[in-house]
Amino acid sequence: MRLYHPSAFDFTTAVPSYWEATAPAFDHEAPPLQGAHTADVAIIGGGYAGLHAALVLAREHGLKVKVLEAGHVGWGASGRNGGFCCPGAVKLSYGELISRFGLDETKHFYKVQRDAVYFVGDFLAAEGIDAQRTGNGQMEVAHKPSRVEELKAEQRFMRETFGDDSAFYTREELAERGFDSLAFHAGLLSTETFGLHPLRYVRGLARVAVDAGVELHARSEVTGWRTAGGLHTLVTREGEVSARHVLIATNGYTDETLPAAVGGRLLPALTRIIVTRPISDNELKAQGWTSTDPTYDTRRLLHYFRLLPDNRMLFGGRGGTDASSDAMNRIIGTLRQTFEEVFPAWKHVETEYSWGGFVCLTSSRAPFAGPVPGMENVWGAFGWHGNGVAMASYAANRLAGVIAGAVAHDKALPAVLQGMPGRFIMPSQRVNYLKAAYVGYGLQDKWR
Ligand SMILES: Cc1cc2nc3c(=O)[nH]c(=O)nc-3n(C[C@H](O)[C@H](O)[C@H](O)COP(=O)(O)OP(=O)(O)OC[C@H]3O[C@@H](n4cnc5c(N)ncnc54)[C@H](O)[C@@H]3O)c2cc1C
Repeated sequence: MRLYHPSAFDFTTAVPSYWEATAPAFDHEAPPLQGAHTADVAIIGGGYAGLHAALVLAREHGLKVKVLEAGHVGWGASGRNGGFCCPGAVKLSYGELISRFGLDETKHFYKVQRDAVYFVGDFLAAEGIDAQRTGNGQMEVAHKPSRVEELKAEQRFMRETFGDDSAFYTREELAERGFDSLAFHAGLLSTETFGLHPLRYVRGLARVAVDAGVELHARSEVTGWRTAGGLHTLVTREGEVSARHVLIATNGYTDETLPAAVGGRLLPALTRIIVTRPISDNELKAQGWTSTDPTYDTRRLLHYFRLLPDNRMLFGGRGGTDASSDAMNRIIGTLRQTFEEVFPAWKHVETEYSWGGFVCLTSSRAPFAGPVPGMENVWGAFGWHGNGVAMASYAANRLAGVIAGAVAHDKALPAVLQGMPGRFIMPSQRVNYLKAAYVGYGLQDKWR
């Protein structure tokens, strides 16, 4: 059971994304699961989280690992995101983190977020995965004059608390650096983010995992789960796997009943992306936007955008609460309108691709990687709050050592990721909570 329109869970069809149109096909074996099998660890979900955990379990711990993926390799968010490899897998402010976890743990989490970005960069380089890395830092731009002081205050706080090395730019300085838009009034550049081709990344990762001995099964949706005698048996249409350990790595695509212990704790949320045709050098100059640094604005319902290596502009934002295709078309229209307000010189530059997908929020507003309470040897890794390229990769890599029994949970991961999120109050109303939040945030973005 899932919270949204079933068309968003058609595992047989790829989204019509720019990434699907430009990534090389996955050239390794990933046959659907057929017949009855055993494994040490069975993993549900073949995105960054599932595959990174699988790789460590097989390569470093010599375990027999089966990954069951409902779609093709890269079907989920890992194959369709904006490609910002960045910190931010949490919806708690640093002030809230400090009061909930203390200053030392918050400092630890701050460091881990940066480490996660470096981890992906190092992984791509070490494994020879050409994920078309671009940009050198992430720009946060003030969408209202009133947000300029907030950016300055944020910079001061981050520098004093964590020794952060971000740089502040006025509107004029932004224009000089190739971020020219009258829609923005100042910017804060943090150093560690970069952009990548998400589907090239996840397919490269899948190749490395299969080469390391991971048994990867695409088109193998888990539809049943039995537990007996310390073994969990996951059932797909044509087969089943019995394993002592199970890792749930389905994030925004999680089935509410698989297992029931996870139901009611996650809140998938839609986000949408458009990609234009390639923009010529003259057109780029006419707008004055030439930087490839991933950029997002200060709205609560933020827009994120970046110039791709072939000079197309990727522009993303909130995707509403209706996953039907009619609603999708309406949202894409709104996104396009905002794109034209931000980049008026590109009003004539056509959109060539548009698609959407689910990110995953939690009741605790923090991500989770650890044991699922009340279920023996069942693990979860999810809740990346729309910023999982780096954190899903890193956290799953670390969690694998815990699953293998090689490292303690509290040594592997910071406290922020250790607590299983609780159930939402009246979980059946989750999407309505989101609707209400969108109305409130939209008003804040407009008037503050
Ligand atoms: C449009 C969009 C833009 C985004 N932009 C960014 C960005 O720029 N930067 C960033 O850091 N993050 C971004 N994100 C979020 C990021 O993509 C995710 O946090 C990350 O990919 C999560 O990885 P994952 O492995 O946890 O989940 P996923 O990649 O979603 O993988 C989960 C997999 O589980 C599979 N699955 C579900 N149910 C079953 C089942 N029953 N049986 C078998 N398999 C199942 C699904 O098919 C899916 O492939 C974006 C997400 C979207 C949708």
